Amino acid sequence: MSQPDVGTWRTQVGQWLATVLEPVREREPTGEAAGLAVFHNLSDGEERLLLERCRAYQRARFDAGYQALTLPQGNGGAGLSAAHAAAFAQEESAFEVPPSTELISVTVRLVGMAVSLFGTAEQRDTYARAFLRTDLLACQLFSEPGAGSDLAALRTRARQEGDAWVIDGQKVWTSGAQFADHGLLLARTDPDVVKQAGITAFLVPMDDPGVEIRPIRQMSGGASFNEVFLSGVRVPDGMRIGRPGQGWEVANATLAFERTASGGGNRRKGGTFADVLALARSHGRTGDPLVRQRLADLYVRGALRAATVDRVARASAGGGRPGPEASLTKLMASDLLTRTGQTAAELMGARISADTGEPDTFAWTQHLLGAPGYRLAGGTDQIQRNLIAERVLKLPGEPRVDRVPFSELPGN
Ligand SMILES: Cc1cc2nc3c(=O)[nH]c(=O)nc-3n(C[C@H](O)[C@H](O)[C@H](O)COP(=O)(O)OP(=O)(O)OC[C@H]3O[C@@H](n4cnc5c(N)ncnc54)[C@H](O)[C@@H]3O)c2cc1C
Repeated sequence: MSQPDVGTWRTQVGQWLATVLEPVREREPTGEAAGLAVFHNLSDGEERLLLERCRAYQRARFDAGYQALTLPQGNGGAGLSAAHAAAFAQEESAFEVPPSTELISVTVRLVGMAVSLFGTAEQRDTYARAFLRTDLLACQLFSEPGAGSDLAALRTRARQEGDAWVIDGQKVWTSGAQFADHGLLLARTDPDVVKQAGITAFLVPMDDPGVEIRPIRQMSGGASFNEVFLSGVRVPDGMRIGRPGQGWEVANATLAFERTASGGGNRRKGGTFADVLALARSHGRTGDPLVRQRLADLYVRGALRAATVDRVARASAGGGRPGPEASLTKLMASDLLTRTGQTAAELMGARISADTGEPDTFAWTQHLLGAPGYRLAGGTDQIQRNLIAERVLKLPGEPRVDRVPFSELPGN
């Protein structure tokens, strides 16, 4: 199918956005952490209200045909190019998009996309569509206490009983589980093959009596993520996503979407360069040569990240799946987030740690305490570097000592 001209399409996007969103406003210093926090620190009621605001926008976007832009049409996407997606993001940045939450991003940009790619036609109609429209919310049940960077070592088991699967195990760091309808779960279905080959993906209803969700309180205040315990959870075979044993492929595609979402998204996450500049101005520090150097460094890194996001998007292979280059943008984004907080902290010195009521000073602690989380989420900095070394630069791989059946690995 021929693609619409990007320039004309972009004009239409801008016109549509103006019908559903307000133009971007300059943020007033308020002393509130809302704009600077990397993770929300909200009550359950406040979080639900925020989710509803986000969902209203996502539904409008879906209904107008602007969701899942690069996903092939046959998979329920718009079948457009990376250039169209970049144009949409640029147009969107001129509007007040509802502040995003981890759960919305996971639902639309990770689970919705994965189910669209790997699900059956029926699963796409019933679930992928509902996730992309946020009618249903979905979390990502991947990490376990002994399986984070080494995700393929996961121990949650699913055994087949007739036309159902019975799942037992524990997941951890599950963002938004307490508000999710479903979870995309990875489980070991065959321990007698190498660890990557024996994994299968399932959609698990989070209100099943065998699912127990325990929120984890973070050092920045909120409880964005959870422990999830699964005891004898029965899911019909119709909730299996992909073939038995295809779970590692589903996981890799989902994680590549996650890196793209974390690295390339234009949604606000914590303080920005503009916030640091405003802080330097309000503290009368913009004449200080060292401060000017830090600000220039931050600005240049932001511009480099934006250019890399654009380049990676344009270079990404067809078929709607991001390539390993997404690790570059994820790494640059988490580095920028950290440096933004550090520059704010240097500007304020000890004042950042005491709440004097001075606007936008103590609020930066919400950025400083949250930023390290993004160096871990979606694969740590070190793992991104490994991926870049091995899959982008084609350097020799790490030594692998686990190319034996999972059941023969020590401890199993
Ligand atoms: C904010 C946040 C949200 C999250 N949300 C979710 C979610 O919704 N769903 C989900 O499933 N998970 C989620 N996670 C979990 C996340 O994916 C893991 O934290 C991450 O993969 C790291 O795993 P780990 O915490 O077990 O650390 P580990 O894997 O134990 O790593 C510990 C340290 O060792 C280093 N390391 C490990 N292996 C290597 C290696 N081969 N080479 C070099 N260094 C290495 C790591 O870089 C790290 O510094 C979230 C995490 C965070 C912080």
